[in-house]
Amino acid sequence: MDDTHSAPDRPAQPVVVTKPDHPISQQDIDPDALKIIYRLHRLGFTAYLTGGAVRDLMLGRPAKDFDVVSDARPGQIKKRFPRAYIIGRRFRLAHVHFGGGKYIEVATFRRISDQAARETPAEESAPAHPYGTPQEDAFRRDITINALYYDVINDAVVDYVGGLADIARRTVRVIGNPAERFTEDPIRIWRVLRYAARLGFAVEEAAEREIPGHAHLIAASSGARLYEELNKDLAFETRPVLETLRKYAILRHVFGKAGEAYESDAELFSRLSSLLDIVDRARTAGLLLTIEEMYAVLFWPWVQPLLEASGVDYHKVLSGAFRDAGMRVNIPRNLRADSGQVLIIVAAMDRALRTGRIRWSLLQRPHFGPAQRLYFLIFKGRLPGKDESFEALFRQGFPGGGKGMKRRRRRRSFRGGPLPDQK
Ligand code: ATP
Ligand code: MG
Repeated sequence: MDDTHSAPDRPAQPVVVTKPDHPISQQDIDPDALKIIYRLHRLGFTAYLTGGAVRDLMLGRPAKDFDVVSDARPGQIKKRFPRAYIIGRRFRLAHVHFGGGKYIEVATFRRISDQAARETPAEESAPAHPYGTPQEDAFRRDITINALYYDVINDAVVDYVGGLADIARRTVRVIGNPAERFTEDPIRIWRVLRYAARLGFAVEEAAEREIPGHAHLIAASSGARLYEELNKDLAFETRPVLETLRKYAILRHVFGKAGEAYESDAELFSRLSSLLDIVDRARTAGLLLTIEEMYAVLFWPWVQPLLEASGVDYHKVLSGAFRDAGMRVNIPRNLRADSGQVLIIVAAMDRALRTGRIRWSLLQRPHFGPAQRLYFLIFKGRLPGKDESFEALFRQGFPGGGKGMKRRRRRRSFRGGPLPDQK
């Protein structure tokens, strides 16, 4: 068997690719990340760009975050960078701040993954020597294409794990033995599928084979970590990733009954899929949804039939559905409440526009703005334009003012002006 992908016991020579055999241009790298790397180099340390940035630059895609990894220890970084702050308990790393809330993460090469460390009993928690060589650091990572280094000083890509070959083959390959790596951290299954979906890569066979047998372990992962991973997918290229998670029957292990519904009912999921497509396109055009709007989109196709079938107490139906769903992802309470409010208002808008019955107090609700955006997204396939509003739609549909309409004086405040959230 080819063992390029399992951690060798002895130091191995990495594959090093220099210009013009790699496409990375320093112009595409965050200048602050470059500054840190050059400074560490002048101080006698080794420092590389790593992770998603190197992967994306190799693929000619714009990189998002520029993580740096170095042989400098967190304490040494703190001493040499006045605006460095140390974070993390088990594995300490430095955030070097640049004002405006911006920071670059500078980690130290290490031997063990976070997940492996989490598995160790508390009394042994912080290993005496968590730090390691660049090679060890590459091997603790999840997939080969995420474990490349870019050496700025020599303008070279450094590859210990066969990531360059996998980029050429367009393959997502787990580093090491997939069954072991999935058992150690089942969330890696999600990550494998994410990068395959985002990049249009194939999942390497040995990993794919192990997914069905290990997927259920995801449900036992920390709900907070599931939430973290979910947010990455709700922020970026959501549709392809969720479609792939569904294909591999992962949604049920994250969203409980909601996931089961999306997996067993193709029609229900295709409604979600089309919404996500609109969201992904809007995002590309620079129109961002808030996190509460994203969570409302995610659950709308699942809750809509439940709300529609119910009487009036949307709130009760919704909290019942979430309570009984057995979700494994831990969505913070406030976010659940906010996106729940959005869902309830969207359902009420839908009902008003179908029946002509409206409670105008709807327009006063704190979540009316996001709900209105979502209403357009769901029912019109786009976000509302400047001069569009739910109120205008309703007046158009029911010029007589609708049925059972109770006018509330408070409504007046909207007359003549745009609704407060119309940007
Ligand atoms: P992006 O941020 O574009 O989604 P990324 O590769 O930067 O991609 P992150 O989630 O930011 O992904 O993780 C940073 C790096 O940490 C990854 O590239 C990978 O090397 C490593 N990593 C993240 N999660 C795991 C994990 N569960 N097991 C092993 N390594 C991981
Ligand atoms: Mg990242």
